[in-house]
Amino acid sequence: MMFRMRLAAATVLAVLIAGCAGTTAVTPSASPVATSTVTATTAPTASSATATQATTAAISCTAPAQPLVELTEGPYYKANPPQNATLRTAGVAGTPLTLTGYVVSTSCQPIAGAKLDFWQADGNGNYDNSGYTLRGWQLTDANGAYRLETVIPGLYPGRTEHIHFKVTVNGKTYTSQLFFPGVSQNEGDSIYSSRMLVTLNTSTSPVTGTFTFVVNTA
Ligand code: FE
Repeated sequence: MMFRMRLAAATVLAVLIAGCAGTTAVTPSASPVATSTVTATTAPTASSATATQATTAAISCTAPAQPLVELTEGPYYKANPPQNATLRTAGVAGTPLTLTGYVVSTSCQPIAGAKLDFWQADGNGNYDNSGYTLRGWQLTDANGAYRLETVIPGLYPGRTEHIHFKVTVNGKTYTSQLFFPGVSQNEGDSIYSSRMLVTLNTSTSPVTGTFTFVVNTA
């Protein structure tokens, strides 16, 4: 009950914020446990496809949800990245991508304050191993939502397109990778997992993607 009240309050706040921005908010489902996938691509009108929508979209999760698949960290993680949700900076190669979604428990409860640490190659398949370009962490907001401004990573030898991440909840860190649909190299990549595919809408600019990070907090 408490959760539903909090969600309702958050919904009202989100609608108010959307109203101030002169946009149309997408009303979240009545239940925090969505039984169908609703993404930013299902906007009722084109004009509502704004940044505001990302924080009011329903959670794509059906309980009990399968927790994320943990995958190798790989060789290119750098310790102590900056707190930064906007990894896409001027001059970085790659197709702009806005990735949004939530961190949730296996019962689809959103988790506020979860730490998401992303790192990835640029559109040419190159990592910044001397600095922190395309590296940064953020915390989910009060609704358990995150928003990552980045680029679609390129291929590099032996690997399909992927974004590395670590998600930390209650002091426990889960390391894995996100993948992209329709990439022919997916099936030939031994690390690839179809359960870690983002949902992508390439008709928007930037390209928009969604992914729900499900963490087993039990
Ligand atoms: Fe990698």
